[in-house]
Amino acid sequence: MSKYQSYKETVLEYSRLLSQKGYTVGTGGNTSMLIEGENKIAITPTSMDYFGIHVEDICIVDFDLNMLEGNYKPSIETEMHIEVYKHRRDVNAIMHTHQVYASIFALINEPIPALFDEVTFNIGHTIDVIPYGLSGSHLLAQNIIHQLSNRCNCYIIQNHGALNLGMSMENAFRNVELLEKIARTYYYAMNTGRPITKLPDTIVSGLCEKLYEKQDQEIARKKEAGR
Ligand SMILES: [Zn+2]
Repeated sequence: MSKYQSYKETVLEYSRLLSQKGYTVGTGGNTSMLIEGENKIAITPTSMDYFGIHVEDICIVDFDLNMLEGNYKPSIETEMHIEVYKHRRDVNAIMHTHQVYASIFALINEPIPALFDEVTFNIGHTIDVIPYGLSGSHLLAQNIIHQLSNRCNCYIIQNHGALNLGMSMENAFRNVELLEKIARTYYYAMNTGRPITKLPDTIVSGLCEKLYEKQDQEIARKKEAGR
């Protein structure tokens, strides 16, 4: 049995959850986890139905994109995932989805502002749109790097879908659900044609401070552990 078994199990379990809940369709989307203390990730294979694969089919890939374990090619978005882990030391899990309501904003190129306390506390002050790059391209990975410094946990990818980050897989999945909730309500609110109220700036900065504190603690924890 692989020493990365528990990572593979979690990646597969949550990928199936994404499909079941309709956050991705067919073989779309991809899920990964950082292997703590090693510059490696566990990631879903490309173009495979999550219910048609087994735990041992989850790939282990190092930061130089070498596949170390797995039976199929890793996700075409592996470079994108690795760049996020390199640039955001607070992140331990990533879920790339094609979730429907967030995808509306990927088409109209409109960021989602801070509208709800619990969303801001978990995701950050904005959900920005990352400029388009072909799926799996180096350009898309580069476009994402440029946005990561805003310390937010969700991004909309233009004409594509969404990118959700978390300190754990549970956190990343919760952010997928929060993103879909805010995208859905914002979309319906826009359709009423009525003015939309946003959270006051002071509240937003207070909530973000709490988020940054958690991120800093996680980065410090890894540093202390020599990771
Ligand atoms: Zn995609």
